Amino acid sequence: MRGEEIMCRANYEYYKEHHICVKCGQEDAEKDHTLCLNCMMKERERAAIYAQKHREELLEKHRINSKNRYRRLKEQGICTTCGKRPAVHDKILCRYCSAKVNYRKRQKYLLNIYATKNMCEIRI
Ligand SMILES: [Zn+2]
Ligand SMILES: [Zn+2]
Repeated sequence: MRGEEIMCRANYEYYKEHHICVKCGQEDAEKDHTLCLNCMMKERERAAIYAQKHREELLEKHRINSKNRYRRLKEQGICTTCGKRPAVHDKILCRYCSAKVNYRKRQKYLLNIYATKNMCEIRI
């Protein structure tokens, strides 16, 4: 059993090195991938079917994960957007992320103003 595992691993490295598909070991691997086109499509299909089958489950998992992450970061006083920098006092975002959010809000606001202004100018 163990010997087999090592064999598989050696094959994997060998195939990878020689740009051969690590799954079927027959076709050339696609550029920047370890699988051939055929195996890639099969993998993608399998992943899609899996995602479809477990859709609710995955969504729930994701929801719980992001909720936990949010709560944990908030408790630790770390920015909930980047999860790296400390949040500004009484906020859930760091200085950098809140500036980014503000900038986006301001851009939207300005766009709105420009849109209305143009409309007025057209009328005149
Ligand atoms: Zn293949
Ligand atoms: Zn941040």
